[in-house]
Amino acid sequence: MKVRIAINGYGTVGKRVADAVSAQDDMEVAGVTKTRPTYEARMALDRGYRLYAASEKHLASFRAAGIDPSGTLEDLLQEVDVVVDGTPKRSGYKASYEKAAVKAIWQGGEEHSLTNLSFNAYANYEEGLGADYLRVPSCNSTGLIRTLYPLLVEYDIEEVLAVMVRRAADPWDTKRGPINAIEPVLKIPSHHGPDVQSVLPDLRIRTIAVKVPTTIMHLHAVTVRMGSKATAEEVVELWRRTPRIRFVQEGEGIASTAQVMEMARDLQRPRSDLYEIVIWEDGVQVSDKTLYYFQAVHQEADVVPENVDAIRTMMEIEADKKVGIRKTDLSLGIPTAF
Ligand code: NAD
Repeated sequence: MKVRIAINGYGTVGKRVADAVSAQDDMEVAGVTKTRPTYEARMALDRGYRLYAASEKHLASFRAAGIDPSGTLEDLLQEVDVVVDGTPKRSGYKASYEKAAVKAIWQGGEEHSLTNLSFNAYANYEEGLGADYLRVPSCNSTGLIRTLYPLLVEYDIEEVLAVMVRRAADPWDTKRGPINAIEPVLKIPSHHGPDVQSVLPDLRIRTIAVKVPTTIMHLHAVTVRMGSKATAEEVVELWRRTPRIRFVQEGEGIASTAQVMEMARDLQRPRSDLYEIVIWEDGVQVSDKTLYYFQAVHQEADVVPENVDAIRTMMEIEADKKVGIRKTDLSLGIPTAF
């Protein structure tokens, strides 16, 4: 029997997780919630998802728009094993999930303390086994954990400095900025460093963040002081054996995030989603024990496979992380690392 999933908050992350869950043979989407009868609500229905209003008070606006939801979130929670919360940060649904006795997955907008378990499939899949609540860290943190975890295991890491050049808003979002400025985040470390430590508590990492007027990707410039020596080629080989990392070459014409996203469009995946973290292979350099690299993060997509893996480990459908990750990757068209 398939595990039944609710998506609370069918937005940027929620709709992608819904489609990724639908691509699995061991889980299915029981329904999705919206607060308002937007185009996304209509498209959810068009895609065959059962639509639920977030609460009783939201029902009227759907009916006024000629949409008849299957009920409210409270009804949907009665039918599912796991809810994936894709609502904006601090929406405050934990008590509802507890009351309905469903397992829940939150996203990176929430604090680690909400679940006391932050999850990255390759780094701590086993900690998720049977868990009732967990959180997938933010897109940036997931990106850093993906590339730093194998280095930590293989070479040990003395210290990391990651400078994060962050996109201002998602492509659809016309309310956020900046649109003609560069905005430093004066708090150091930015919240990303502690967020990475929520999964890798022993990693010494400092992060500095800057927001720039672009919507398509984040870019990280990472400096790693490693505990033991390795060549750039050895590090690249290690990353090749790591899931969800994709290499690009400036020498092949990928000189910026614009060409990375053009490549993503050419891959012809749903919504041009790039689930992998992209590393410039010809930008990986080692000097003595210091490693330098640049990586790009498709903010809307990289956390999606992690949500699917999280369901599998929480529901104990698959105990072996490599088998679980491979299954997810095959279903989403991601080249497998093992
Ligand atoms: P979003 O605004 O695109 O989508 C949120 C959805 O929740 C919308 O469908 C909205 O209708 C719905 N919603 C709003 N209030 C609600 C409520 N009270 N009850 C139920 N539904 C409600 O947001 P998003 O970008 O998908 O972010 C969701 C979470 O994912 C946040 O924690 C965010 O930090 C995290 N996240 C976002 C990105 C990204 O780049 N967008 C990447 C990784 C993680």
